Amino acid sequence: MREEQALRRIVIVGGGTAGWMSAAPLAQLLGLGDHAASCEIVLVESPEIGTVGVGEATLPTIRFYNRTLQLDNAEFIRKTQATFKLGIEFKDWGHLGNRFFHGFGDFGPAIVNRSSILHWLRLNVDGALGNHEDLSTATVMARRNRFVPPAGDQPSAANAYSYAFHFDAGLYAAYLRDYAIARGVKREEGTIVDVSLRPGDGFVTAVTLADGRRIEGDLFIDCSGFRGLLIDGVCQVGYHDWTHWLPCDSAQAVPCVRVEPLTPYTTSTARSAGWQWRIPLQHRTGNGHVYCSGYTSDEEARHVLMQNLDGAALGEPRQLRFKTGMRQKAWDRNVVAIGLSSGFLEPLESTSIQLIMDGVGRLIELLPDRRCDRHLADEYNRRMARQYESIRDFIVLHYKLTQRDDSEFWRYCAAMSIPDALEHQIETFRRSGRVAILDPDSFSEPSWVSLFLGLGCRPERHDPLLRQVDDQALLGHFERLRHAIAATVSDMPDHAAFIERHVCAE
Ligand code: FAD
Repeated sequence: MREEQALRRIVIVGGGTAGWMSAAPLAQLLGLGDHAASCEIVLVESPEIGTVGVGEATLPTIRFYNRTLQLDNAEFIRKTQATFKLGIEFKDWGHLGNRFFHGFGDFGPAIVNRSSILHWLRLNVDGALGNHEDLSTATVMARRNRFVPPAGDQPSAANAYSYAFHFDAGLYAAYLRDYAIARGVKREEGTIVDVSLRPGDGFVTAVTLADGRRIEGDLFIDCSGFRGLLIDGVCQVGYHDWTHWLPCDSAQAVPCVRVEPLTPYTTSTARSAGWQWRIPLQHRTGNGHVYCSGYTSDEEARHVLMQNLDGAALGEPRQLRFKTGMRQKAWDRNVVAIGLSSGFLEPLESTSIQLIMDGVGRLIELLPDRRCDRHLADEYNRRMARQYESIRDFIVLHYKLTQRDDSEFWRYCAAMSIPDALEHQIETFRRSGRVAILDPDSFSEPSWVSLFLGLGCRPERHDPLLRQVDDQALLGHFERLRHAIAATVSDMPDHAAFIERHVCAE
């Protein structure tokens, strides 16, 4: 049997959200604070090259990440100016005036092994049952600006929902930096100007900083942002360009003052050549306009953003450019790209931080020794690609199902060809009322259904087994559920008051 060659040093290139979100769990896992630890972690960040500086909305799994690090929840919320997020409100996507919510959670408990919402759809043929969103506790809470965390182990049907956070990305990275450094991660400040490779296999052996310092390592995590210093600059793995499906390539971002009420959700409003986000934080509101430069100018995009702020801007908008897609390999040789260096999907469903968490989680699962076995890399790349593609399809769905034809951009989106897997997904739902789950690590059935229904796509036929349940019994069930949710939410505190009383006052 060949002897294992444990890693001696991991070098993380970049100190943005991805760099510090990678450093923190690795430091915890490798027990760096312990003198017996055999591996060290060095993180290099450049004082000259800034971070992307946006990225404020998350998905519920951020809570599991924070819990793994054993972060104190109240301290995390205070230090990052966080608010709670129950989902995303979409405005003007399906058509002008269209409004729907993608909430975190289900539409009530399953009935005879089938999702509640599928029963509801079968029964709601003529629209007599009202709005399905009344059966989503997260959505009802969001519409009324209420928040409390869901009850513990055995929540009632009306108390089953999930939540995530909005936070200041810069403050979160700083919080994790302190965490990682306290656990033994070494931070080097400097700009990498050269990379040394091992002859033969091309493994990276060291990076050299502008002042001549040389940092050697066995495994390099490339968190250098869009530039992909190692994964692109050195490994040149290639890029899957998805701009024909997701044509937005630019964004302008600007914070404005905090606006009341403090909404426990993100808002995404479709604009004539893209969409605008609104993310409420405790100390300010994050805003940005994501758009396609082929259909509008930067000046016009900036004007649209500034005209649609609901408070005074705190500065000038920041211009960002990107190309939607992913690296053909996130792991090549002894280089693993995490964060923007691995690819980019527009922030419509807040998935970038999720991809960072899953990237570092998978790396920990598949942690190599010094040889960086190719099969580990292949498995990592397979899982990352499946997740990226599944998220891509979910985002493309928002554009493809639009009925808007009021601008060139929306006419392009409605007519564009889409990935085969998404075509399959849409047709499966339209023809049979079923959701194909192509990647268990990405969006689940309630999320797909929220989008389908929100954008006006309804099934023509239904699962034949749904007929086993008596219609009258179902009607009674949905009526009781709707009332239980409304009553439960009525008793919940206002979102801002909850933060004030239970988090900031501690
Ligand atoms: P960066 O923040 O760019 O950090 C790169 C780091 O690499 C920096 O520390 C830099 O100093 C260092 N570096 C680069 N080159 C060198 C060098 N030569 N030498 C030394 N160091 C170097 N995500 C979400 O989950 N939710 C959102 O709501 C969201 N909104 C977004 C909105 C927009 C418009 C964009 C563009 C992105 C958004 N994201 C969002 C994505 C999110 O911002 C990123 O995933 C996250 O910030 C991670 O960035 P990063 O750390 O990979 O890169």
